[in-house]
Amino acid sequence: MKRIAALWCVVLPFAAGLVAAGEPARYALRYDAATRTMHASLCLDRAATLQRFSGDASAPGHVEDLARSSGAPLQQGGDGWSARDWRAGECLRWRADLGRIADANARSSALRAAETITDPGGWLLWAANVAAADARVDLPAGIALSTPWTPEPSAGTTRRYHIERTPPDWLARIAIGRMSETTIQRPGGRLHVAIGGPPDPAQRRRLLAWLGRVSDAATTAYGHLPLADVQVLVIPVGAQRDAVVFGQSTRGEGNGLTLFVDPSRDAHAFERDWIAVHELSHLFHPHLGARGAWLAEGLATYLQNVLRARAGLLTPAQAWAELADGFARGRAATPRGDATPLEQASLDMERAHGYTRVYWSGTAYWLAVDLELRRASGGRIGVDEALRRFDACCLAPTRSWTPQAFVERLDALAGTDVFARRWREYRTLTRFPATPALDTVDAAARAGIMGAGGGDEAEGEGRDWNTKGTKERPIERKSLKHGAPEGRGFR
Ligand SMILES: [Zn+2]
Repeated sequence: MKRIAALWCVVLPFAAGLVAAGEPARYALRYDAATRTMHASLCLDRAATLQRFSGDASAPGHVEDLARSSGAPLQQGGDGWSARDWRAGECLRWRADLGRIADANARSSALRAAETITDPGGWLLWAANVAAADARVDLPAGIALSTPWTPEPSAGTTRRYHIERTPPDWLARIAIGRMSETTIQRPGGRLHVAIGGPPDPAQRRRLLAWLGRVSDAATTAYGHLPLADVQVLVIPVGAQRDAVVFGQSTRGEGNGLTLFVDPSRDAHAFERDWIAVHELSHLFHPHLGARGAWLAEGLATYLQNVLRARAGLLTPAQAWAELADGFARGRAATPRGDATPLEQASLDMERAHGYTRVYWSGTAYWLAVDLELRRASGGRIGVDEALRRFDACCLAPTRSWTPQAFVERLDALAGTDVFARRWREYRTLTRFPATPALDTVDAAARAGIMGAGGGDEAEGEGRDWNTKGTKERPIERKSLKHGAPEGRGFR
């Protein structure tokens, strides 16, 4: 009991530090498509002697004409603004030139989008001590909105949402434009899909059929999606070598993923994609920070192969071959002799471009844990079952976990010590981990991991499904928001 109690101390939600102030804060947002400007107001029901407002570090450069509805003054300072003698029911009003923000971001990206895409942290101010808000958004006819916020019943051109506050350095994306919107419903949740462009009807049908298969793959982990509402933003970027060029999952103000695609590619090209399943696989773990990047990216890389095999997007033999190829690349990318410990390589990953070693060392961890769990439990418990139990008790979009708390919780849920024991071993590794010869893994474990057959059948369609060379961006890194060109190969 004592161990569990101590564990909970380190997994207190971000929101626990915030005072729930009765009614949530209320945003009213109105978008002017002609000027690509958002007119915003934020109303609070309670009075305060001193009320603070802030966004992320870029917000002071984006917020214009900020004023109180009472006409009383505001003081700018530090990372935001202060209002003395805030009155109950008073509102803060401002506007933000989303077109200017989006265009500035786009200039630093190799991928161009027709939509107005911004991080709300840069222009949507939050009141201090407020953990959640309701929002109504008025849009011009024909203009769609993609957000990570939870949609609520809406009518006409007015949308309603609930927003859970997350730390200001968690990346989020909001897209506004002439997009086509669809909800993909699966057990346990909904994917709120917005496709930019918009593509022609045949391309749209193909994209939705593919996203349906990807959603099915996500449910093969344990029968349902891990989170109730997920934003899926699909941005066409013209002719490309791969159907999916780049992907990223985000956690700011809700869970989302962005996929940059070439919509002209045929269905087979999309079936070969690994990025979408990888990004959805990030939904199965909580925010783990840069120190936990090897755990997070390792899990998503492991599951991108396991779940595609279970869903029939790869044969099990192809999935095992993908893992073997990845381990070979990870080993080749790990410096010989004087490599930094894996946890340090995770912290340095962005700066040192150490993606291949970090991703595939992490993948080796999850495979080793999965095999040991299945061996010890006679096949009853694997990584999938441990994640299902974590989902049932602990997975919440606004909570951050330390890597240690996460693996210890998985151990407590699975009745084992393998997660934390291997975590302690792997985080200090200065070489690529030893991986089992995959063709020696016993048939029951192969079938348990990859689904029927487990990969003992003859190999299918050759090796053109091997998609190395495409790109994925590590999750949740706000530093990338205005960042480097989005086209780096590391697989
Ligand atoms: Zn990833």
